[in-house]
Amino acid sequence: MTPVEGLAYDKAMTFQVQILGVGDYFTEIHNYSSFVVNADGRFTLVDCPDGLPRIIKEMNRVADIGVRPEKINHIILTHLHGDHSNGLEGIAYYKKFLQGGKKPVVYSIREVLKDLWSGKLKSAMKNLYSGPSERIGTLPVRELLKECEGVKLEDYLSVIPLEFNKTNRVNNLEVEVRSVKHHVPTFGFKAKYGGKALGYSSDTFFDPRLIDFLKDCDMIVHECDFQKTSPHRGIHTDYHELLRLPESIKQKIFLIHYPDTANQRDSELKLLQQSQVYDIR
Ligand SMILES: [Zn+2]
Repeated sequence: MTPVEGLAYDKAMTFQVQILGVGDYFTEIHNYSSFVVNADGRFTLVDCPDGLPRIIKEMNRVADIGVRPEKINHIILTHLHGDHSNGLEGIAYYKKFLQGGKKPVVYSIREVLKDLWSGKLKSAMKNLYSGPSERIGTLPVRELLKECEGVKLEDYLSVIPLEFNKTNRVNNLEVEVRSVKHHVPTFGFKAKYGGKALGYSSDTFFDPRLIDFLKDCDMIVHECDFQKTSPHRGIHTDYHELLRLPESIKQKIFLIHYPDTANQRDSELKLLQQSQVYDIR
């Protein structure tokens, strides 16, 4: 679970994460919290911030393990807060217009999926012109809009529900999910590959039962708002609660979704660093 330095590495038998962003919703210096899981060259994006192509390009300047927007076809969506989901519209258009209509697969729990279209994407995406461009100039605006109507979620994305109390297949990962304590329906998960496991808390208030669920993972990505140093208190995890965990668990925890005021010098727990790659071992 050490950061991998530099650009060159062995891509065979790989299970690792690369960090797109580490910030909370109020960050001025980071990207929003998101990461890519690389399991032997197959990528699974965890949450989908806006501006994904730019973020990926910037990330690759620091460490390039082959992540490209074209290779992001599987997305785990933990909840619908904008910092975790606002990039779905962009990646769907990217696939549709730049990758020949390819549809990314979005994996989430049913409580999230039921609102994904009607409560999130529909207002901007329900209209799409697909006729010849020569006609656009001849159409009055009202008629043009009429012709654009009728597009559905399935025209952009495939969605696969993640079930509780079973092992779900996500790309080439085996994933178990658990509801967490947040403002809106949200889940944490364990993703297994090649005998190793990655755990992710997603956004949550500190929950000992979630820790119990994640404790057998080899690497645990946990959100943390540091509370006492954060001006933005909400349903998030207090750093001091994590500090009270057994040493064996603390060693495996890597913090994400932290405020701009957090820094490694003042933290006993490890802070994930944007663009860096971490092997899960
Ligand atoms: Zn959230």
